[in-house]
Parts: sequence; structure tokens; C-alpha cells
Amino acid sequence: MSTKNNVKVVVRVRPKLSEDKLWVDVVDDTTLQTVNPRDTTKTDQYEFARVFNSDCSQVDVYNNCAIDSLKHLMQGLNVSIFAYGPTGAGKTHTMLGTPTAPGIIPRSVNGLFQLIEESKEEGWKTEVSYSYLEIYNEKVHDLLVPKEQDLAIRCDLRGKIFVTDLAKEIITNKEEFNKSFGLAANNRTTASTLLNEHSSRSHSILILNVTRTQAVEPFARRHGKMYLTDLAGSENNRMTGNEGQRMRESGAIHFSLLALSNVVEALNKGQARIPYRDSKLTRLLQDALGGNSHSCLIINVAPEESHLYETQQTLLFARKSK
Ligand code: ADP
Ligand code: MG
Repeated sequence: MSTKNNVKVVVRVRPKLSEDKLWVDVVDDTTLQTVNPRDTTKTDQYEFARVFNSDCSQVDVYNNCAIDSLKHLMQGLNVSIFAYGPTGAGKTHTMLGTPTAPGIIPRSVNGLFQLIEESKEEGWKTEVSYSYLEIYNEKVHDLLVPKEQDLAIRCDLRGKIFVTDLAKEIITNKEEFNKSFGLAANNRTTASTLLNEHSSRSHSILILNVTRTQAVEPFARRHGKMYLTDLAGSENNRMTGNEGQRMRESGAIHFSLLALSNVVEALNKGQARIPYRDSKLTRLLQDALGGNSHSCLIINVAPEESHLYETQQTLLFARKSK
């Protein structure tokens, strides 16, 4: 596995929500096992950089998946964290969490402002802004200042990716972010009549932009971005049985998650050609998925029997991306 373009792949098993029989076992910190439903004496094992069992806390996941990324971000590198998995497996819980169990997004913003506070003493001035968007049916929509149009993804002369006309809001502390981001989350609600339905069919991406300047010689300047992505549900995205709008959505999701998996696989195998241009998702994340960037893909799975098929599909995807 290449060390430079490495995308770390970890798995999180959510706690059981029903009395269903359980079919997923965490063997140890890096091994997950599923039981074969046709022959329960048979099991399949999967190895990952880290496997979190259902008792793990939001802090454990943050410490393992986000803290190093924040340090890289402060050094001016691009970083990304994704939650992948079927609807109901815990992606939004992992990324956003709840007021009593905050997830990676609020914890990262908090951690970032702590690092900024510490770096002030070393003579750095830092500006943070954020944007929030979704990719739905291969169209990019601003969620911070909602607009009807599909925003274009472009590349500047230095190879940096940006979205034209995407709103950006400057934030100076975590309270400001929480207030502002709460409003953006509301925009997302009113923009859609069926929130859960809609959110599980779109990729939502929070972008934190961090620009740092040294107040003393040599007046260095660093600019890094962090992409925090709650991916569309990975289930039922093969087009069979779906019609009309639903079929277009499924096609778009299947196609973009496949593109993501191909990019991650190509990066981790050290391939020369990385197929970023195959989807809006991989195009947008291009400068946070290759080069000097650092990424973590968090695979969320549900442990119950009723989710077994989706869990197996998810783990096969994850194994391919490793
Ligand atoms: P997804 O975003 O993948 O569709 P959610 O994050 O909405 O899934 O999780 C589905 C349900 O399971 C929610 O009610 C959520 O609160 C709960 N849940 C998910 N992960 C955990 C966890 N680690 N601990 C407690 N509850 C969880
Ligand atoms: Mg969700």
C-alpha cells in the first residue's frame, strides 16, 4: 500500500436497534467477521486499518479518524473524511451526531479552533470559513445559501478545485459555526419535502477552509481544506425495480459511489491514472484525495440480520477500496 496517497479505511458497527439476531462480530481491533446465512458454521473475515465495535464512543472515532487530519489541515494540506454505508447504518450519527453525543463535524470544528488558539503564540494568524453543499443526481447545490442552479466545479491554474458561486461564511469560533451551521441544516430541511428520503439520496459535504499567515518573517502562508462528507445511502443503487426519478437517483448514486471506490482503489494501489473525472463527487474531492492529502473512509454497518445483505455488499465495497 502506498504511504503517500493512502486513504485509510475503517469500519464502525453501530449498536443493535432491534432484537434481531446479530450477524456481525468484531473479532479484534482490525478484524470483522460476518456469518454466512446459508451455513452458520461458515464465516467471512475482513481486515481494516481499524474496526470500531458498537461500544465505541464518538470520542474514539474522532481521535482515530480526525485528529491527525486536523494537524495536516493546519500545515496547509487538504484532508477528507467520508461516512459510507446503507441508510440506517450510522453515517449521520458518525459525522454529525447529537447534542449529547456530537460527531466528527462539531468535534473537528472545536479541535480546529483549539489548534488555532495554540498556534497564536507561535505568531500565526488564521482565518476559517466554511461552505456546505450537496451533490444530488450529479448536480451541485449550495446548502448554505440555497440556489436553484447546478454549480460548476472548476480547476484554477494551480490545480486547485473550486465550486463557482459557492457561498462561504467566515467563522471565528465554534459557537459561531454551530449557530450558522444549524441554520444551514434548516435550509436543507425546507428545501426538501421528504428530508430523510432526500438526505439519504444525496451526498452532503461540509468544507472547512483554513488560511494561515505568519505575522513575522518569513511570513509563510498556508491554505488547507477539510471535506467532511455524509455520503448517500449505498443500498439498492443498482437500477433494477426502480422507475423514473427514483431510477435516476439510484443510477447517480451507484455511479458516484463506484467512482469513489475506483479512485480510492487506484490511490491505494499507487496507480498512475486516477479516474477523478468520472463523477462530480470525485472531481470535487480531487485535490483532497491525491497528492499530499490525507483521507479516511469510515464504513458504517448495521449488525442485525435484516441488514445482512447490505452489510455484505458494503464490506465487499470496503475490501476493494482498502
Ligand atoms: P444513516 O445516516 O447512515 O442513515 P443514522 O446515523 O441516521 O444512519 O443512524 C440510524 C439510527 O441509528 C439513528 O436513530 C441513530 O441515532 C442510531 N445510531 C447510529 N449509530 C449509532 C451509535 N453509534 N450509537 C447510538 N445510536 C446510533
Ligand atoms: Mg443519514
